[in-house]
Amino acid sequence: MARNLDAKCRQCRREGEKLFLKGDKCFSDKCAIERRAYPPGQHGQKQIKLSDYGAQLREKQKIRRIYGVLERQFRKTYKEADRRKGVTGESLLQMLESRLDTVAFRMGFGASRNEARQVVRHNGILVNGRRVNIPAYQLRAGDVLEVAVGAKEQLRIKAALASAEQRGFPEWVDVDAKAFKGTYKAAPQRVELPATIRENLVVELYSK
Ligand code: ZN
Repeated sequence: MARNLDAKCRQCRREGEKLFLKGDKCFSDKCAIERRAYPPGQHGQKQIKLSDYGAQLREKQKIRRIYGVLERQFRKTYKEADRRKGVTGESLLQMLESRLDTVAFRMGFGASRNEARQVVRHNGILVNGRRVNIPAYQLRAGDVLEVAVGAKEQLRIKAALASAEQRGFPEWVDVDAKAFKGTYKAAPQRVELPATIRENLVVELYSK
């Protein structure tokens, strides 16, 4: 799988937004964007006016990076979102938020989405009591996730869960940290997700 090897918080700076690729570091003021809130590189401090197309592309790239989804998969998700009833952009975000790796991250079963994805791939998560090792697996409201017995002993999962509990879990998941277990109550509403994400630009880009 292709990976972006730029330093994680350099990517935060590139996108002008904390992408939370780096676990605790991004949640803290150590994320490079806190000190240098402009894009990296020697021209980083120049003001660049993007064309409409440029802005749409940039935003799509940002959302892909946040969720760690490759172009092909992202496009597929968009098509499915477009097919659904309701606002396409909102459906797109809800589908991304319903991915098993993202929900596992929201529940604190990994310090970042990337770490949560590894935990999923290595059979570390049960969904309704069954092992599911597909990061893109779409969860439904009411699905119960649990860290598999063997994985509960992993220190990185324990540490990630402790940090997440301290920060507080999002409204749309219900987590019993002691039991390493959580319920995905429902896909988040648009207002529960950051306003800095402008998914309408992705819709504009793809509906051309
Ligand atoms: Zn960061």
